[in-house]
Amino acid sequence: MSNILDLAGIGAGPFNLAVAALMWDKSLTHRFFEAKAEFSWHPGLMLPGAMMQTSYLKDLVTPVDPTNPCSFLAYLVEKQRFYDFLNAEQRTVSRREFADYLGWAAKRLDSVEMGSRVQSVVDKGSYFELDIHGPKGQELVKAKNICVAGGKKPHIPEFCRPQLSGSCFHALEIALRNPDVHGKRVAVIGGGQTGAEVVINLLNKQWGKPEQVTWVSRRSNYLPLDETPFTNDWFTPAYVDVFRQLSQPRKEQVVAEQKLASDGISPDTLKELYQLFYRLVHLEGDRDRMVLMPNREMVDISNYGAYRIQLQNHLLGGADGQEWLDADIVILCTGLSEALPPCIAPLQDRIVRDEEGRLLLNDAFSAQLKGDDSDRRLYFLGTGRFSHGIAEPQLSLSAWRAARVVNDLHRETVYNNQQPNHYMNWITPKKAKEAAVA
Ligand SMILES: Cc1cc2nc3c(=O)[nH]c(=O)nc-3n(C[C@H](O)[C@H](O)[C@H](O)COP(=O)(O)OP(=O)(O)OC[C@H]3O[C@@H](n4cnc5c(N)ncnc54)[C@H](O)[C@@H]3O)c2cc1C
Repeated sequence: MSNILDLAGIGAGPFNLAVAALMWDKSLTHRFFEAKAEFSWHPGLMLPGAMMQTSYLKDLVTPVDPTNPCSFLAYLVEKQRFYDFLNAEQRTVSRREFADYLGWAAKRLDSVEMGSRVQSVVDKGSYFELDIHGPKGQELVKAKNICVAGGKKPHIPEFCRPQLSGSCFHALEIALRNPDVHGKRVAVIGGGQTGAEVVINLLNKQWGKPEQVTWVSRRSNYLPLDETPFTNDWFTPAYVDVFRQLSQPRKEQVVAEQKLASDGISPDTLKELYQLFYRLVHLEGDRDRMVLMPNREMVDISNYGAYRIQLQNHLLGGADGQEWLDADIVILCTGLSEALPPCIAPLQDRIVRDEEGRLLLNDAFSAQLKGDDSDRRLYFLGTGRFSHGIAEPQLSLSAWRAARVVNDLHRETVYNNQQPNHYMNWITPKKAKEAAVA
């Protein structure tokens, strides 16, 4: 037996867990390495009341392999809560329950090795060599193909970096930091779902009773996530295949136009917020506790004992739009950026990229190494927003994407993941256009 694995996975968040779950029959040799000792899913944002923005049926496997032992329904049955779950009539589940499901799946999959950090990946010509630091010490693992799903990193505006501290930090850490906000002026920067969840928890005194909470949003208002049926068609396999046919400049424009389909605040959260403000102002007479500042972009921040945040009000524009805000605590809800894990550094310069320096991924999410004519695969999951569309960083298509990877590894259709769209005529096929002209 060869000691070269068919696949090594870097990271065991939901994207690679989906691949591991679809490889459960073990016809190809594989191991998935996860740096964390215990499974957790964005633990720093596991805030009370946080709900999923995606249906539980879009789990690790169901859309392509509904009878797979790692489905959300299998989890409910094993936990003996199937009927309770149905009777609760939830459209979506809490992030807490979904994280528990993911952890349950990770435990079921013996290919997932927790506490195993991939330190580096080196190209050895016909295979990759991974330097693993795990519970049993260091190990060099050989793999013909690798699948990288190491997650994203917090986005922090460059001018803000010098101010990072225990009182100015990214929201991704808030539940782990447990900041004491009692009697403090707190500025929440960012008008997306995370900003909304942080504001709700601040006003519910999760970390003490703040003197004042100011919520700054660059957007023109606190805008909803569009989760209506036709918008959801952008999160389907059929749409990804259409998106793949667009020119790169068109892809960039389309991704920008579709922003609120993935980045807005869920309507239920907006309603909860508005009702919370109503209660504060009209029933509790606490008019000054909350200040809403839409249309403002944070453009600078300094510290003179407290933070002074410079804002640009885009409603006014120009010099008239310059404003300042003072705060004792600044919570950055400024999103996440795509990132490759540092272990990939030895390969970085050899990965073929587009003119913007982005990974050039094929339909099966695989990138090419310059000068490599082997048939190895180097898959990247969750980094292809500009090559595969807005669904790429989301859970919606994780099972379908994993099936593409597994089919590509096998060089055959192990999972039939054809899910055509039966209504939307996104583009007229080339043949039909030619026939019309002839
Ligand atoms: C708070 C929050 C809520 C979200 N909710 C939703 C939602 O409701 N619906 C939706 O569609 N999307 C949601 N998303 C977006 C997206 O689905 C998640 O970010 C998802 O976790 C991405 O999966 P991933 O596997 O790529 O990355 P991650 O979940 O970040 O997992 C990556 C894993 O790789 C490991 N790793 C990194 N480097 C190494 C290494 N060198 N060696 C070993 N392991 C390594 C990390 O420890 C980590 O566990 C949410 C994102 C956030 C931040």
